[in-house]
Amino acid sequence: MIGAAAPALPGLMMDRSLQISRLIDHAALWHGEVEIVTQRTGLPDRRSNYRELRARSAQLAHALAGRLHVRPGDRVATFAWNTQRHLELYYGVSGMGAVLHTINPRLFAPQVAYIVNHAGDRFVFVDADLVPVLEPLAAQFPGVEGYVVLCEEAEMPATTLPNAIAYETLIGGFPGEIEWPELDETTASSLCYTSGTTGNPKGVLYSHRSTLLHTFAQAASWQAGPGSQATILPVVPLFHANAWGLPYLAPMQGSKLVFADPHLDPAALYDAFEREQVTLSCGVPTIWLRLLEYLERNDLRFSSLRLLGVGGTAPPRSLIEAFEVKYGVCVMNAWGMTETSPACTFGTPKPQHDVLPQRIDYKTHAGRCLFGVEMRIVDDAGASLPFDGVAQGEIHVRGPWIASGYFEDAEATERGVTDDGWLRTGDIATIDADGYVAIRDRAKDVIKSGGEWISSIDLENIAVAHPDLAEAAAIGVPHPTWSERPVLFVVAKAGRHVDEPAIIAFLQGRVAKWSIPDRVIVVQELPHTATGKVSKRTLREGYTPAP
Ligand code: ADP
Repeated sequence: MIGAAAPALPGLMMDRSLQISRLIDHAALWHGEVEIVTQRTGLPDRRSNYRELRARSAQLAHALAGRLHVRPGDRVATFAWNTQRHLELYYGVSGMGAVLHTINPRLFAPQVAYIVNHAGDRFVFVDADLVPVLEPLAAQFPGVEGYVVLCEEAEMPATTLPNAIAYETLIGGFPGEIEWPELDETTASSLCYTSGTTGNPKGVLYSHRSTLLHTFAQAASWQAGPGSQATILPVVPLFHANAWGLPYLAPMQGSKLVFADPHLDPAALYDAFEREQVTLSCGVPTIWLRLLEYLERNDLRFSSLRLLGVGGTAPPRSLIEAFEVKYGVCVMNAWGMTETSPACTFGTPKPQHDVLPQRIDYKTHAGRCLFGVEMRIVDDAGASLPFDGVAQGEIHVRGPWIASGYFEDAEATERGVTDDGWLRTGDIATIDADGYVAIRDRAKDVIKSGGEWISSIDLENIAVAHPDLAEAAAIGVPHPTWSERPVLFVVAKAGRHVDEPAIIAFLQGRVAKWSIPDRVIVVQELPHTATGKVSKRTLREGYTPAP
């Protein structure tokens, strides 16, 4: 019988662990002069390089251990935008064996409070401009021992955050040399919570091994010709699913890194692309639509950009076509989730499909599976469906960079992972015989606007707290800039009257600003399914946009 229980002959290759610190060692040694540029509107650019990045990550690792007494496995949080200091945390924290927990500063306060406590963060590293966001929450963080503000001593803001210290003061005086500890490659390296389903946010705990394998897979799969990865500007934030792997990919390849101002004003972004001669950038479609509009209005062209990675939501065809045909930039639509590190598919057509005009059609698909990810689509009963481009089912994935469960959340793990070890993605798709994945719908009851999640269930629950409302149902409707925006259908209680302005006013201050629905539609009743649930599909299908 094939696959006997006894081990076959062991190979004779070295068992060097795949660990994140090797990336920064490699980059400092072989690409030491390659730059890392941090831009802030109104301030001079901060220019550094991989040699300095490694030295400062080393100083940080020494300070974490020697001054803050951080131990391997401890969680160290960041609440910060894209900067070189944030990247130093990527390497210093994971490199010493602790866990880098990146928090999305745009989340609504109760979610941040839940996440910090659930993760058991011991320290939070925070950008100076985000200090006022954390201050009112700090009393709810009994486990947090102190805060490190990502600035110089002289820039330290007056703050009520307990035990606050400037980053440069923390790391100053520690040596820039280090021999990183040898870690088991399955050691946890970073943690990121996803609010991409209903209920509490869920923690995805990456390992050194998963991170490196994901980086190798990415490096092997970008296809836009030589030099396309020379200079990378990750528009995607460092707090979104490891910035889609770019902070690891860049040092692996020796790519220059550019961190743009977080406001992502199209003029400033275009200027960053041109000034730094960016060749590759990645982000959600909203950003690229705004940039496109700016280019068209000002009749501009790119002089260096060659490859644009798009993901997080489906990019419109018009976006792909404009970049590919008019601007000569290769667009790659990639699909994945926080749970999947995140890359699962890349939108590189097979050679026979990579010619105009059909290339654009193929690129509107969410791509094809990367080697290392296994994928299936299943029906409601869990049976696998054929890859015929017609049968539509939920995507299940498995592989070495796919979450096997959620951090300290047995219930979410039980719901999210099948008995036979596949991750349920909540995305409904077809896959054709060539492997092109087309995302058709989302089974999870959430709306994605400009790359940020809105829980329709939270929105409904908060809305029905209005004294005149009987029922509410939120759906996501396509939007040209934001990909999706929420629309809320409401039913008044018998004998009561409600209108749109009253509901909007009620929601203001109760939900995050971007969750306020674009429209509130008062209806007599909501459509229900046979099992008595509100039929969102019927609502979506029957929805006509406002004139
Ligand atoms: P990320 O931070 O990478 O966007 P999330 O976990 O927040 O990850 O979101 C993952 C979800 O976003 C997917 O399950 C899917 O619904 C949606 N998504 C991601 N990429 C695409 C894509 N290329 N096309 C359509 N939907 C996408």
